[in-house]
Amino acid sequence: MKIKTVLRASLSVCSMALCASAQTRAGLTVGPLTVQPGAKASGTIQVPAGKDEATTIPISVVHGGRPGPTLALIAGNHGYEYSPIIALQRLLPRLDPKQISGTLIMVHVANMPSFLKRTIYYSPVDGKNLNRVYPGKADGTVSERIAYQITREVIERADYALDLHCGDGNESLRPYSYWDVKAGGAEVVEKSKQLALAFGLDRIVMDTERPTDPSQSVYCSTTATTRGKPAITVESGGMGATDNESIERIERGVISVMRHLKMIEGQPQMVEHPMFIDRSEVLRSDETGIFYPLAEKGHTVAKGALMGYVTDFFGKRVYELRAPYAGEVLYILGTPPVSKGEPLAMVGRVAETER
Ligand SMILES: [Zn+2]
Repeated sequence: MKIKTVLRASLSVCSMALCASAQTRAGLTVGPLTVQPGAKASGTIQVPAGKDEATTIPISVVHGGRPGPTLALIAGNHGYEYSPIIALQRLLPRLDPKQISGTLIMVHVANMPSFLKRTIYYSPVDGKNLNRVYPGKADGTVSERIAYQITREVIERADYALDLHCGDGNESLRPYSYWDVKAGGAEVVEKSKQLALAFGLDRIVMDTERPTDPSQSVYCSTTATTRGKPAITVESGGMGATDNESIERIERGVISVMRHLKMIEGQPQMVEHPMFIDRSEVLRSDETGIFYPLAEKGHTVAKGALMGYVTDFFGKRVYELRAPYAGEVLYILGTPPVSKGEPLAMVGRVAETER
């Protein structure tokens, strides 16, 4: 008799607890999707036609069975950047919402016009760089309307964001991340640093140039940090490739960040010996023509070293790319076309002091 009473009592407590947790966690609506706790779903955000053509943004929501933070994963702000896009394709089926605390919002291909037309940097529709027009405009051109939807539907609903990039269709790039050291205040800056360490890339560019005004955030990840949400930009892969190493590095990084945020079980793989890059510069061409690289990604260059040159279309050397300071080549163009004012390479100097 006594045992039965105890059992009945514990059962009723248990069912009350279940009832309470179900009441406090409702379905989450993102774009066209409403996803219940413990479920995942995929769908398409429509970007209606405006002054130019309509487009779509494919998203997935993995709504964990337990409460926790919301992490946004954004791939394809640049449509020729395939390793992040494929990494999210691989991650989605691996994620069991019942084992997750919190929510993932995945943007599979942010810049669909660029992806389908295979353009680097710029949209084939409006000629704009999507990762320079955030937070976007509801009545702008297609890149601005995409940025507007991602800001409103994804970034504003997230607590943390990872903007996933690689070296586009033309950059030979060694992996690194960008840590915004200004926007969002000290707590956001520190939490963003922890995201960079948890993602696992040992080169971390300390970005001092990002805007701090949320209405002029320009970049995708800065749209998050200026809104008080820790975020980083990561770079793994490039040259329009889909190599397994670059893709796996992104998958591992996302899983490690999810562990760091206690969204899944397990220990994050924090970078043990981070190399913070306190000076970095994108080196641009003064001339239009054909680029011949002489330096390689990941190699160090001395101040003044010849890193490559540009010829005109008849083979005459018209511009020499020289390292402005000693540092490491984070990326260098790996294909011939170059237009005046466009990037040829990025050189980073590793800070001498610990951060
Ligand atoms: Zn990019």
